[in-house]
Amino acid sequence: MGASVKRSRQTKILATLGPASNTKNKIRELFEAGVDIFRLNFSHGEHKDHAALFKIIREIESKVNRPIGILADMQGPKLRIGTFKNGSVETKRGQMIRFDSDSAPGDETRVHMPHPEIFSALKKDGLFFIDDGKVRCRVREIGKDYFIAEIRAAGTLSDKKGFNVPETFLPIPALTDKDKKDIAFALDLGVDWIAQSFVQTADDVKEARKLIDGRAALMVKLEKPAAIENLEAIVELADGVMLARGDLGVEIPPEDVPSTQKHVVRYVRSVGKPVVVATQMLESMITSSRPTRAEASDVATAVYDGADAVMLSAETASGDHPLRSVDMMNRICQRTESDEIYQDMMGDMRPDAIGDDPSDAITTAAFYVAQDVEATCIVTYTMSGSTALRMARQRPDVQILCLTPDEKVARRLAVSYGVHAVCTPEIKGEFSGPVPHAVQIIKEEGLAEKGERFIMTAGVPFGVSGSTNILRIAEVE
Ligand code: PGA
Ligand code: MN
Repeated sequence: MGASVKRSRQTKILATLGPASNTKNKIRELFEAGVDIFRLNFSHGEHKDHAALFKIIREIESKVNRPIGILADMQGPKLRIGTFKNGSVETKRGQMIRFDSDSAPGDETRVHMPHPEIFSALKKDGLFFIDDGKVRCRVREIGKDYFIAEIRAAGTLSDKKGFNVPETFLPIPALTDKDKKDIAFALDLGVDWIAQSFVQTADDVKEARKLIDGRAALMVKLEKPAAIENLEAIVELADGVMLARGDLGVEIPPEDVPSTQKHVVRYVRSVGKPVVVATQMLESMITSSRPTRAEASDVATAVYDGADAVMLSAETASGDHPLRSVDMMNRICQRTESDEIYQDMMGDMRPDAIGDDPSDAITTAAFYVAQDVEATCIVTYTMSGSTALRMARQRPDVQILCLTPDEKVARRLAVSYGVHAVCTPEIKGEFSGPVPHAVQIIKEEGLAEKGERFIMTAGVPFGVSGSTNILRIAEVE
């Protein structure tokens, strides 16, 4: 394959790897079916498992000669209850159960609560959820190292199920000791993105940034109400955003999820950073070979909203149909993007140039020139990737060929809308060779044919970051 891997869609696909997709063959098939960036989920598996997946992806990358993104997703301070003597207990509505600091396995009457911060954060008569909201409880009594709750919606409680306190700010650091070790490990592997879970404040993001120290890009996961309240300050410090609807949808009412998605996607796009819509997108495909029509609609909605990427979780990590799930997602993205209403919607939300920044003015102008001359692709020469991000922000309907000497930049851009990145040796000095050079790569990558026009932006002199000052209209010869 190699030079022929051109996606016929602009929206990117992020897929999670796991036991259902951990061999070289399977991962290669997922890539060929449309995955642009893979997620290593540090909530599961051991370091050696992630290292093995990382190695496989890099091998495929060099085989197919396309940059492939790798995102290491941290577990974060996900709260969990302790274990039970028999693995699980059945609860009844109205029953009282005690949560305490005793680490002994629990039974019908009590269970371990391993997060002491919870005891002071809960309020009497406050609501909390276990197992993604399947079991709902109200706090009836709180002590220094225990609380007693009434079961309001009954169900099974089993070992280490997730624990959510909706609409409550919890004084818990966003990076656990495990996260810190996992981040260090992932950075040593050389991942392109780190995803930080359960962010609540800008300070949480600052802490992660400091730890990562520029060695990878940072994606914040919005899955707490506090993160939505502090959206602007959090996004400002992040390189990208994931709308993590799984946990978010437990913490806020389901009816609030769609409008939150619209607002977050619109805002993050407007500031020119990639935004991923995640979780339960094709959920029924974990066991079924076809999605529900509602799920197909959900993927399409994220595309209509203008997301950079859509994500698969258990569908590809542990489901019965990883390949079919990617294929289905690919088809929904393509079909939706070909709808004229989609093009209208991208136009309606098109942001203006940011202030008087010359690079942004050129990039915005280049987008409109590309439309006017019906260019078949847009070429950006960039060191840092910032010009490609600016162009992606316009959501053009033709591919953005991003030429960069930095393979890290090329890989990070795997998650960004419409960006087809290619690593090229650094060009230095005057502006004479770039047009024929771009033509050659356009042809190799199959992005346009002889006689078709393209638009090119670059910074002269070459080799200086942040100086886009040239806009050219050229033809493929
Ligand atoms: P998770 O994040 O799969 O790591 O929980 C995604 C989500 O909460 O939606
Ligand atoms: Mn989550």
